[in-house]
Amino acid sequence: MGKPARAVVIGTGVAGLAAAVRLAVKGYRVDAYEAAATPGGKLAELRLGGFRFDKGPSLFTLPHLVEELFTLAGRPMAPHFSYRPLEVAFRYWWEDGTHVTGWTDPERLAEELERVLEVPRATTRAYLHRASTLLDRTGRTFLEHSLHRWSTLWNGGVSQALLAARPRELFGSLHDVNTRALRHPKAVQLFDRYATYNGSDPHRSPGIMRMIPGLEHGRGAYHAVGGMRRIVHALHGLGTELGVQYHFGAPVERIRFSADRRRVAGVRVNGTDVDADAVLCNMDVEPAYRRLMPDLPAPERTLRQERSSSALVFYWGVDRGFPELGLHNILFSRDYRAEFHHLFDTLDLGDDPTVYINITSKEDPEDAPPGCENWFVMINAPRHIGQDRDALVARARRTVLDKVRRTLGVDLAPRIAVEEVLDPAGIEAATFSHQGSIYGTSSNTPWAAFLRHPNDHPTVRGLHFCGGSVHPGGGIPLSLLSARIATEALPLA
Ligand SMILES: Cc1cc2nc3c(=O)[nH]c(=O)nc-3n(C[C@H](O)[C@H](O)[C@H](O)COP(=O)(O)OP(=O)(O)OC[C@H]3O[C@@H](n4cnc5c(N)ncnc54)[C@H](O)[C@@H]3O)c2cc1C
Repeated sequence: MGKPARAVVIGTGVAGLAAAVRLAVKGYRVDAYEAAATPGGKLAELRLGGFRFDKGPSLFTLPHLVEELFTLAGRPMAPHFSYRPLEVAFRYWWEDGTHVTGWTDPERLAEELERVLEVPRATTRAYLHRASTLLDRTGRTFLEHSLHRWSTLWNGGVSQALLAARPRELFGSLHDVNTRALRHPKAVQLFDRYATYNGSDPHRSPGIMRMIPGLEHGRGAYHAVGGMRRIVHALHGLGTELGVQYHFGAPVERIRFSADRRRVAGVRVNGTDVDADAVLCNMDVEPAYRRLMPDLPAPERTLRQERSSSALVFYWGVDRGFPELGLHNILFSRDYRAEFHHLFDTLDLGDDPTVYINITSKEDPEDAPPGCENWFVMINAPRHIGQDRDALVARARRTVLDKVRRTLGVDLAPRIAVEEVLDPAGIEAATFSHQGSIYGTSSNTPWAAFLRHPNDHPTVRGLHFCGGSVHPGGGIPLSLLSARIATEALPLA
């Protein structure tokens, strides 16, 4: 028997980690190269003066996509990672004192929206039912399969998925669909927010995105016990058990090809050529073409699409408790349309951002000293195109503190014991995400799903792509799905 085929994974974001596991299970000898000193990419962690913070993702949905990697490898997940379902996904606040509890249970949410906003229970019920239906009928094809392989097109999956959607859901905006369905402006704003789950503008992204609430209010929202970073430890540990060789502080400099450029040949790392039968690229696809494959024709139309929004995050260790807040809290802006105009048109920050506050010490008390809380405070921010970083952060800090005061009646500044900040340029520098976008390309057109870069290179055999910048898109669940789609094309080693 010859040696098993060799695979290289470029980058150990959540998709790279998942791809490495999948390739090892297929029998490949896997080497994963990571530019940073530790795995995880955006799923990073910060420890600051007795406080622990997840630096990036905080909302965890579709946990079975992590679990299936353990099942595939025939190993138990429990010793590495556990999660628990949440009864409340979000607590929503408006400046006029309105407060909505976002129960994950659809029936309880319907009751709540009737009680607080007078949206008839049947309206919310029907809205959430439609979200679940679309997730089953359309989401499955669009999210779990390549849209660029004949197999998906041939079996009629795409046409059936499109037929399951109403014309307005395909060509109208999410905001229009929500306005027609829900009418009450606060209910509309609440469900418009789901466009931000892939960094998009609800006034432009297609109505089909109404399927996203079907995740939290159907499949459930979960808390990753011990923090989101545990997902990274779990997948890195699983890969190590399966024999994956990880190399940290090892930025890949080039992807190498056969002389006719029809096959991938390997990579170059630290000036050394490494041969491989398959290369899985988890680097953001834009810089991957520009820096690692400068001699290969780049798909300019794909690479020049509008990027998703970025984020500006303050990590604040605060010296008292706030019983009125939960794990996930949203303080809504007064004018959502204006907020997105800033995010995608003028590419700056307005005076009244929607503020997201995530406090993991509510679930894991050891994340903060006794009597204190770890506030991860995030606003959506425009992609980084060279804006003045200091000015952006200073403005964000001022407007966020103002917003907290106006909405919760709290003067937070004197309560902040420790502080650190992450801005769009910092996200780009840490993970090579083009323009600091956190979800790859935006979904601000009806065609966005078809225009993302495919998971297989169209002409180079053995070169595949995974991660938030390629099909099916950003966020942990979709990044995990990208690794599944990209590796299923490869034969057993
Ligand atoms: C502040 C913030 C909040 C978020 N909130 C959520 C949330 O609540 N829920 C959710 O699901 N998602 C959320 N996301 C999005 C989510 O984090 C990403 O979609 C997901 O983690 C992307 O993973 P990825 O596999 O694409 O890799 P990335 O995390 O982008 O990592 C890519 C890795 O590749 C490495 N790399 C790049 N180039 C090279 C090279 N040439 N050689 C070697 N290594 C290289 C980088 O160093 C990095 O480690 C959030 C993101 C941020 C930043």
